[in-house]
Amino acid sequence: MRQIYGGGCPLGVAWAQPVGCPEIPTSLMTYSRDASYAPLQASFGAEPNVQRLLVAPEGIRFGSPRMPDLFECQVSSNFNFPRISSLLKCQISLGTDMQFTSSVDVAIIGAGAAGLAAAHALHDSGFSVLVLEARDRIGGRAFTKLVGGGIVFDVGCEWLHSADLNAFVTIARSLDFEVAEAPPHWSEQSYNIDFPLTEQREFRAACEAFESRLERAAEGPDTAAADVLEPGNRWNPLIDAVSSYVNGAELSLVSVHDGDKYLDTNLDWRLRRGYGSLIATYGSACNTALGTEVKSVDHSGSEIMVETSRGTVRTKRLITTLPTALMAAETIRFYPELPAKTEAAAGLPLGNAEKIMLAVEGAEMFPEEGHLFGAIDRTATGSYDLRPLGQPCIEAFFGGSLARDLEATGELAHFAIDELVGLLGSDFRKKVSALTTSGWASDRYAGGSYSYALPGHSEDRAILAAPVDGRLFFAGEATSSRFFSTTHGAHESGLRAASEVARSMGLFINRDRLT
Ligand SMILES: Cc1cc2nc3c(=O)[nH]c(=O)nc-3n(C[C@H](O)[C@H](O)[C@H](O)COP(=O)(O)OP(=O)(O)OC[C@H]3O[C@@H](n4cnc5c(N)ncnc54)[C@H](O)[C@@H]3O)c2cc1C
Repeated sequence: MRQIYGGGCPLGVAWAQPVGCPEIPTSLMTYSRDASYAPLQASFGAEPNVQRLLVAPEGIRFGSPRMPDLFECQVSSNFNFPRISSLLKCQISLGTDMQFTSSVDVAIIGAGAAGLAAAHALHDSGFSVLVLEARDRIGGRAFTKLVGGGIVFDVGCEWLHSADLNAFVTIARSLDFEVAEAPPHWSEQSYNIDFPLTEQREFRAACEAFESRLERAAEGPDTAAADVLEPGNRWNPLIDAVSSYVNGAELSLVSVHDGDKYLDTNLDWRLRRGYGSLIATYGSACNTALGTEVKSVDHSGSEIMVETSRGTVRTKRLITTLPTALMAAETIRFYPELPAKTEAAAGLPLGNAEKIMLAVEGAEMFPEEGHLFGAIDRTATGSYDLRPLGQPCIEAFFGGSLARDLEATGELAHFAIDELVGLLGSDFRKKVSALTTSGWASDRYAGGSYSYALPGHSEDRAILAAPVDGRLFFAGEATSSRFFSTTHGAHESGLRAASEVARSMGLFINRDRLT
């Protein structure tokens, strides 16, 4: 089974993009304003190899001029791409090259979970909305690839953390995405390799004692989480490795106060078709201009002028969802400048987290949902999920400075394979090969993985989130007060910014009724 995303038909050229196959062109598309999905749905439904088709509800209009809508459809492996193209050509032949939308009520920078949530809420409240997205896809740090003949690989977010409070659980079910409630095994060591059970218990007890000390420390002045480690405890390096996975940074960099504010219900679920696929489907109906990089924002006049790589957009309100690494680096220039925002973003750097998907010959020999630490006596080590969701692969995860260094030198796969061979024996080297790796640190539209607060900077989240002049609004995971660093936190922040925008324009959005 393959999954494809597709869009419409610019000047007679249609396209369909298998997830994770960027070689199939995804240029910007133009639709007729009058085309509806209904005929497209009918044609696809009649295709023998189409197993499932999700498009926007019947009767919905295709996006604004030049804005590609996405549809998602699962097809069997012998699906014929030229045929899909000709179907699209024939169904959307009305396309003409219309002008880039140059004036809207609300422009949103970034089509990640935050921007898409805001777009949904504002569109549903009757505003004209345009999401400006630099990449040629939506989802941002949520991105699913199919690799190695059908292995679902979430290159970015993967876990529905705090699942009982996570809006994407409900959204997933409403979009017919299967939620896998299998728990993680992050603190276990399959086969107890180089990590006997008694020591695993000791390690877990050390983690719990550390958590309790963190809670107590949060009542005092802010400090680095490393200050709370018990001096000389043999598990400190591994506790620090866990911080590198969770925060994207070692404990010496992380604020105790910030960690204390994070709401974790310890329920972590996944999606069989991938978190990135869910966000792409969730956002498919949003009016998004892909391939549209915002360069600058002039908010000195009565209208806000947003300068993009495709021209100027004039807007009454603007929501910015840039990752903090980019806000701090001022990749978008604001006139007048916003020094408080730049400083706040610098206090909330993006950590580093990188992943590698490894194909394993004879993967059945491993337990489903197994887990291995590469080493237990150092911080610079990987976390390895064996056969995640029963798939024939190992997913390697690195955090903090190790992730940053390995990504920079292109050695993620070597390191992962060497650590696994160290645990599983030299024969294993012949059975394992790297399918693909992430590269978030060097991704020019992310610049890292997820935000953490430097000691003394936990209040920066509120500073970053605060509106400016009742016209500029800020969302994105780093602005979430209790779910920062996560996709559901980004979503919540998008809804918050949308309701602030609506209020600034005299409307009230009931956030409890939004998804
Ligand atoms: C390896 C990794 C693992 C993760 N695991 C999890 C997990 O298991 N669970 C979880 O909940 N979260 C996880 N996360 C974090 C999660 O992915 C993010 O918190 C979330 O996706 C952020 O959403 P956002 O909308 O705030 O930002 P983004 O998704 O980054 O969206 C911002 C958008 O702005 C766009 N943009 C940037 N510059 C410009 C510009 N100049 N003009 C126009 N557009 C621009 C970007 O392309 C991007 O699409 C993980 C992240 C990584 C990297």
